[in-house]
Amino acid sequence: MSNLTLPSVPQDGRAITVLGPIAPKQLGRTLIHEHIMVDFIGADAMRPARYDPEDVFLKALPHLRQVKSAGCNTLVDCTPAYIGRDPGLLRRLSQASGLQIVTNTGLYGAAHDKYVPKFAYAETAQQLAARWVKEFEDGIEPLGVRPGIIKIGVDSGPLSEIDAKLVKAAAITHQRTGLTIASHTGDGVAAMAQISSLKSHGVAPEGFVWVHAQNETDTRLHLRAADAGAWVEFDGISSATAEKHVELVLRMKQGGYLSRVLLSQDSGWYHVGEPGGGDFHPYNFLFTEFLPLLGRQGVSEAETAALIVHNPRTVLTRLKQRPD
Ligand SMILES: [Zn+2]
Repeated sequence: MSNLTLPSVPQDGRAITVLGPIAPKQLGRTLIHEHIMVDFIGADAMRPARYDPEDVFLKALPHLRQVKSAGCNTLVDCTPAYIGRDPGLLRRLSQASGLQIVTNTGLYGAAHDKYVPKFAYAETAQQLAARWVKEFEDGIEPLGVRPGIIKIGVDSGPLSEIDAKLVKAAAITHQRTGLTIASHTGDGVAAMAQISSLKSHGVAPEGFVWVHAQNETDTRLHLRAADAGAWVEFDGISSATAEKHVELVLRMKQGGYLSRVLLSQDSGWYHVGEPGGGDFHPYNFLFTEFLPLLGRQGVSEAETAALIVHNPRTVLTRLKQRPD
């Protein structure tokens, strides 16, 4: 099928924001893993009527404006469907804040599968992938906002049957769309299992982001994953964790793997069901405190640019491995 019959599908080599495709160099300084809203009620009870989008909008907007003022250009919202993804809300917030926002397709199999809808058990990996590819090609219903990344999640240890299915569905979606796979990963065993599963489905480790890698205490696994070509994401950066995160970054620098490292805060979170959305954690710490701290520990400006600009840019640039 030629592109002429599908004029609306973005071409290879573009990054996909909630406002449409852009040239990757426009992404700028990027927070690769944050959340605007989450609803932990579970897939079975999830309904849009559980929250007022206007309330979320008013709560999140000042934080998005603040991080933009701190020098951020793009924020990736990693909340998957059935745990609070609202692409229409993200589009409104992007327009109002001037911050570029990226949303995702996929399903979250971590947290012992509480956020996996029933149809995912009944369908095959191919059928799930068809849903995710459709979200990319036609846009997410009802507004047609397109995902710019595949976000899945798996529990710790060897992959369960449902988690293995989600990984396979992500592999198929990656091959059809060129979107990178970011996976909330329980531990290093699960990271290695995903890298080898993806390889068996024809996806190179370069197409995979090990999300929450900081939770794995055996740092040799970070080096091993990076050496294989995978992205190693240290998120959850805050004042409480800054020292530990600096150590993780320096270890990767010593190993010569900064070109495989991603940094983010996993911050934000309007909690659906809590009064006023509960405590909303700002997004600016990484820019105002953490990067200067890295600088004082000998991380050069060029290395910082790799971590915050070039690496996320590569992750978000859609590139099909398979010519067709
Ligand atoms: Zn997260």
